[in-house]
Amino acid sequence: MLRKFSALALAVGMFCAVSVAAQDYPNRPVSLVVPFAAGGPTDTLARNLAQHLSKTLKQQVIVENRAGAGGTLAASVVAKSKPDGYQVLIAHIGMSTAPALYRKLPFNPLTDFEYIGQVADVPMTLIARTGLPPDNYKDFVAYVKANKDKLNLGNAGLGAASHLCGLLFMSRIEANIQTIPYNGTGPAMAALMGNQIDLMCDQTTNTTGAIQSGRVKVFGVTSKKRIPSLQFVPTLHEQGLKDFEVAVWHGLYVAKGTPKPVLDRLNAALVAAVKDPQFRDALVKLGAEAVTPDRATPESLAKHLKAEIEKWGPIIKKAGVYAD
Ligand code: ASP
Repeated sequence: MLRKFSALALAVGMFCAVSVAAQDYPNRPVSLVVPFAAGGPTDTLARNLAQHLSKTLKQQVIVENRAGAGGTLAASVVAKSKPDGYQVLIAHIGMSTAPALYRKLPFNPLTDFEYIGQVADVPMTLIARTGLPPDNYKDFVAYVKANKDKLNLGNAGLGAASHLCGLLFMSRIEANIQTIPYNGTGPAMAALMGNQIDLMCDQTTNTTGAIQSGRVKVFGVTSKKRIPSLQFVPTLHEQGLKDFEVAVWHGLYVAKGTPKPVLDRLNAALVAAVKDPQFRDALVKLGAEAVTPDRATPESLAKHLKAEIEKWGPIIKKAGVYAD
């Protein structure tokens, strides 16, 4: 009887401690975990967002880069973290492609997380080093096909958006070229600008400045419509790659079991950020778009993630790419 009572008292005590901690959240800095290297597109988005989350949470939000395994390492770290809201994952479309790409994924995107909401949509651009001879899309495709054994394409590893986009492009033009994985497309971009690699498909948040200043060549954007900040760049769709579209979307996640008051505080901070004209404008300049507040919700992220897993699974299986 006494033992039962002590166990009950302990459970009640623990519950109270968690709830008090949740009410008090955040009383120390929060980590925003980025699955790729510093200097890349996810990192840039995260650093912009962190400032705004900090403002609402009235607490420091520190960007932590945990690159590896095409972004899946960071997701697995956050899935296994203490469910207290101090480790928040910012992950992109890779969250929905990883289940098909990895035979042994150490986490389940549908069951191991609590969702905070969607953050932003970011189109991609197909770019090349300035030394590559072709100057327009038609010549570019002919050049890639004729030189497929000599060229290479940088990406951020299996599961990264740059990997997915490159894969889809190569399959559409029927030219398989060698891929070179980096810890993120920040370092891959440096290699491209240094003429060490030939091609890359990467998010506008990483490529807009380099395109505008002519430090890379651009052959198209992956959205269905042209992007306001890169109006002079035609879409791949309008250049003949009919219906080609890769829309990278981002969401915020914390470990399963994180208390509701913590989820609510994080969600309120995310909603405040996506409503803030400063955040929205910063993203527009980078060719991206913050989501509307109705998409910055756990329900919207859950629905979108599930739909994207269902969309990409068969495409990836058909392409026959996977990692063990
Ligand atoms: N977002 C990039 C990709 O998926 C990687 C990065 O953010 O560095 O290719």
